[in-house]
Amino acid sequence: MKNLSVYVHIPFCKSKCYYCDFRSFQNCSTDDIKEYMKDLLKEIEYYRDLGKSYVIDTLFIGGGTPSMVSSEFIVNVMERLGEIFYFVQFPEISIEGNPDTLTYDKMAHYYAAGINRISMGLQSNNQKLLKTLGRIHGSEDFLESLENAREIGFNNINGDLMFGLPGQSLKTFQNTLKWTEKLEIPHISAYGLIINEETELARKIDQGIIPEPDEDLEVDMYDYLRKFLQSKKYQHYEISNFARPGFQCRHNRTYWENREYLGFGLGAHSSMGEKRFSNAEDFRSYHHKIQSGEKPIAGVEILSDKDRLKESLMLGLRLTEGIDLKLLENRYETRLEDSILDKIQEFKSQGLLENHQSLLRLTPKGFYLSNSVFREIIG
Ligand code: SF4
Repeated sequence: MKNLSVYVHIPFCKSKCYYCDFRSFQNCSTDDIKEYMKDLLKEIEYYRDLGKSYVIDTLFIGGGTPSMVSSEFIVNVMERLGEIFYFVQFPEISIEGNPDTLTYDKMAHYYAAGINRISMGLQSNNQKLLKTLGRIHGSEDFLESLENAREIGFNNINGDLMFGLPGQSLKTFQNTLKWTEKLEIPHISAYGLIINEETELARKIDQGIIPEPDEDLEVDMYDYLRKFLQSKKYQHYEISNFARPGFQCRHNRTYWENREYLGFGLGAHSSMGEKRFSNAEDFRSYHHKIQSGEKPIAGVEILSDKDRLKESLMLGLRLTEGIDLKLLENRYETRLEDSILDKIQEFKSQGLLENHQSLLRLTPKGFYLSNSVFREIIG
């Protein structure tokens, strides 16, 4: 049996945050949600064959806001997966939620069903910034959810933060970090804000209602973030992720190590062997395919060994420990193209990449410019 990571997408949110371009929808009726959850259970059923050769090592129920839907639905998904697949003895099973919908009862229900990790969106503890982002919770909601989660028995908890926000000063960000660190959450993810076109935030910035974030300040914030959390015994193990010993996210490591994962739900992506496939992105097509007895797949790509090698290089470099190029070449029984090796040399001379023993890794300067490094390497 091979290990598998499974992702389940719950595409509903109570209200749309201004910066969000994820596949998530607000104002969906109870009937729409019910229908989607029924389809999701059927979709899982269509993968019964895989249950003979794969065992679930990690499961991530993400969104959207999975905590928005009734916990019965989430438990149904867990049960259906349990009918089709075995789980490893100690799986990591995470659910994402927002403080305003993560009630005590829901979390207790998740815990009883075997969910053992909670990922909560805080983003900032500053009420004004939360409002700028269109978030509908406050830091006190986060504290309440955290306290409840711990009382129920969850100890593997992640808090999501954001920086580089419009109107956010370095001091405000430092305050948020210090406040969060005191809560002793074992895992913190911190992402720089990306202003995506067609979002409410981009429109507000265009219209001058909200100031444009300062890029230099964002660099300072990232620098402070790394140094501060490392000084508090968090390991900086991926560009945007920090964990106390034993609390790295196993599910996300599957992506960065380019191992196999299967995604269920609207727009979910999967990577199985050389095959990359993704589901229909609109409710109608997703529903239609499921009702016709088909898997709701909308696109398939077969990657060559060379492509998989490049993909693994790009993903693996996100991990601060770096990657062993020789091992990677052996894994795909192919060699890296000369043009890529030249690029790597160029980035080394610019101080963006470095060798650490047999591993190639990003330098602290490289973390910040990682997107351009990856773009150039992939070509
Ligand atoms: S809660 Fe998350 S998924 Fe939902 S709108 Fe906000 S950012 Fe997007």
